Parts: sequence; structure tokens; C-alpha cells
Amino acid sequence: MDQIILTGMVLETSPSGDYDRRLVILTRERGKIVAFAKGARRQGSTLLACSQPFTFAKFRMVEGRSAYNVTGLEGIRFFPELSQDVELTCYGFYMCEFAEHMTEENNDESRVLTLLYQSLRALTNPNIGPKLARVIFALKMLYLNGEGPQTEQCVRCRNKTGPFVFSVRSGGCVCAKCAGDDFDPSVRREKELRLGIADNDFYNLNESTWYAIRYIGATPAEKLYHFTLSEEVLRELTTVTDAFVREYVKHTFKSLAFLETL
Ligand SMILES: [Zn+2]
Repeated sequence: MDQIILTGMVLETSPSGDYDRRLVILTRERGKIVAFAKGARRQGSTLLACSQPFTFAKFRMVEGRSAYNVTGLEGIRFFPELSQDVELTCYGFYMCEFAEHMTEENNDESRVLTLLYQSLRALTNPNIGPKLARVIFALKMLYLNGEGPQTEQCVRCRNKTGPFVFSVRSGGCVCAKCAGDDFDPSVRREKELRLGIADNDFYNLNESTWYAIRYIGATPAEKLYHFTLSEEVLRELTTVTDAFVREYVKHTFKSLAFLETL
């Protein structure tokens, strides 16, 4: 049978049979695939690296009828700094879980793979920090999937002139005219108290937060991790990004739930 070489990253590994491993790999050439590493759990196996999380490599494979079989690895790149730290490992798992949820087989996922690789590197960059890396990654994933927030014009009337308020359910910015009274956070708060409802759909954001969202939407993954934010702007960016993910990505992230307990 013909061997092929696919470049990619292990998103998930689980035991299979007595000695094998089942892998989900995000590849540059064929999108997300399932592959088996026969005997990878035997001592001294040359496929042992498959068992490590965050393994990036060139995988030699044979294509079977329903899955791929890994026969070797070359050019292996690990992220040992991640594996040695429980919290960073968990952030890394979150990214892998997110990427697994958003990708498909035989789809061009090369930009997601680049984003994942750069984001795992950013996790261990002390200038960026894991909280900022996670939120940049999540927001960029939405944009790569065509589901990022609209920030150039009002989603209701297409007016391009601000100021805007951020609406999760509307999918991005809403201008002051369309938002009416609700543009003012104190008016919204008063309504919430009076009507006894908590409608958290509108967010008034700092100019720097709008700028960060636009920058993340427009910038390729290789250049994404070249900025930092004040604590306040990071908090706003995290709030609206997580709200956006909850609204549009129908998936509960196990790793995120765990991170919240740390
Ligand atoms: Zn409008």
C-alpha cells in the first residue's frame, strides 16, 4: 500500500485495543482525520510520541478503508513547557478541543492548524500570557469559521459611523440610533431592575477593545500574538468573546469548565 506523509497536530488521543492508540489529527493536507497508531502503547514503540498531547509532526501513514494507520513520525515538535504545567496543559486542551469541534475531514483547515500552532506557542510566551492567548485564539477561530462579530458597520442599518454598542445576539455592532435608549448602560440597568429581567446582550466597549476585535479579525495567525492589552480591555474582550462562543458554538468545553475551577 502507498505511504503518504501528512503534516499535522494531534488534537486528541485515546487508548484503543490492548496496545494501540486512536488519534484525532488536524492535518494541513486533509483536514481533521482519525488515525490509529498500532502498538503505540508498547514499551519502546517508535510511535510513542503519538501518545503525547500537542505533538506536531510529519506523520507517515497508510490510508485504510475507514481510517489511517500511522507508520512513523518525522520532524517532531513538542510543547514540553505546556505539558509540565497543569494550568497551561488545560489551556492547550481547550484550544485542541475547540479546533476539533470546528474542523472537518477533507476540508482546507490549514489556517486553523497555523492558528493552533501559534496559539500553543503564545501560551508559554510570558509577554502574552494564557488568558490573552486563549481569548485571541477563540475569537480568531470564530472569524476563520465565518462566524466572527461584524465590527465595520451596524448589523441592523449598515451605518458605518459609530459610536457602536456590541450585541452578541445581533452578531456584532449596533449603532447608537438603532440601539436607541438602550445605548446607555444606565438606562439598560434601570430597565433590568424595573422589569426584573437580566438582558445582558448589549455591551459598551472601550475603543481599545473594538480595535483589538478588528485587529484579531483582520490579522493572519502568524502576526496575531504581537500585542498586549490592559486588564480592563482584556476583561471586556474575554466577556464578549465567551458570550459569542456560547451563542454561536453549540459546545460545552470540558477544559474551560476545568479552568474555571483552578
Ligand atoms: Zn444602525
